[in-house]
Amino acid sequence: MKRKKWITGLGVVALCASLATPTLAANSSNGNLTNDNQVYSIQGFTDHAEMVKRLQQIEKNSQGRVALEVVGQSNRGRAVYKARVGNGKKVVLIESEIHGNEKTGTEALLNLLQYVGSSNSPEAKKIRDEMTLVVLPKMNPDASELNRRGNDMSWAEVVAKFPQLASASKPAWNYYASGVIQERDYTGKPGFDVNRDFNPDLNYVPKAADFPGASNKPGWYITPESQTVREVYKSLKAEFGKVDVFIDLHHQGQYYVEGTDDIVTMSLSADFVPDPRTPRGAKYAQYASNYNFEFSKQLNLAAYNALQSIGQNSPFNNISLYSQNLDLPGTALGSFALNGSGTVLFEVRGQTHTLGQKKKGQLVKAVETGLYGIINGVADGSVTQLNADDYNNIPRTSSTPSL
Ligand SMILES: [Zn+2]
Repeated sequence: MKRKKWITGLGVVALCASLATPTLAANSSNGNLTNDNQVYSIQGFTDHAEMVKRLQQIEKNSQGRVALEVVGQSNRGRAVYKARVGNGKKVVLIESEIHGNEKTGTEALLNLLQYVGSSNSPEAKKIRDEMTLVVLPKMNPDASELNRRGNDMSWAEVVAKFPQLASASKPAWNYYASGVIQERDYTGKPGFDVNRDFNPDLNYVPKAADFPGASNKPGWYITPESQTVREVYKSLKAEFGKVDVFIDLHHQGQYYVEGTDDIVTMSLSADFVPDPRTPRGAKYAQYASNYNFEFSKQLNLAAYNALQSIGQNSPFNNISLYSQNLDLPGTALGSFALNGSGTVLFEVRGQTHTLGQKKKGQLVKAVETGLYGIINGVADGSVTQLNADDYNNIPRTSSTPSL
């Protein structure tokens, strides 16, 4: 049902996966977050130090069910944590905050770990019995601490680690060397969009000839953050044969459910690279036997259905499909889809550099609801009974309201 809503002054910012990100009113000489003279607080979100304490508490409360491990270091030396719970054969890997200004996913993952690790409910027990759930909360902690999209790393640091790149004609195309991007000034504090640094060839070694690259070409694993995720993915593949499901938790700008004036609470997607079995995806032909678009669509539907089941006329019904027909092999989702994982993108309303912690409770609940839809559907096998074609009935996203 169409409802009248006030349109806020936030304006429309680009979809998260796009790098054509217009900046909002920014006067942040010191890197502080300002917009229309308003500072957007993020203190209600869990920072890195708080997350470590919470993870340790969750591990302790779980009586051995949750195993915590430091699996890597960010470029500035912050620990990247992996938490694992469950003993089932189905492997579900979820990461959050690959973009540091997209914070609800971490909150949702901590709540999920607490519940699955400690609850004696039949639901939690079923999840533990059927699957091995692995989460990488706040996997790009330097960006998280800066509340910005890019990590904290210079091209010179990359070349120091990969001397063969000294002869590259230009730095990576996803390198933010200077200027303001999403209200953050990278001048003097450059960084990379880590979510363009993945490569479907999990053993890829960086070569100068592959730079600067482009959005429709694979990344290089030049950042320690993407390297950490690659190692976790490879180790799960070695242990289980495959990673059945990979979910990446993001935020986007403000959009509308197509044909309505309803502000999108969250967008979903299964589509990050062209199907290798189609002419458009021919360049990915070597991955054709892995790629399972149908399963990814079913997983997205499981999340969508769980959110719709909350009830009519709630913000949780305002769910749309993210941009389709993308070709982004440098994203974690694109690379892992080509390696055979069913893949799901969550794009929650409002990056934290524009929305701060407003609507935090509602948005975290939306993420959790979608995650439980997927996890329970995988645990009891019902996800494979969903009609993948229904994915196409999820409403599209619009940058303007239909008044
Ligand atoms: Zn993002």
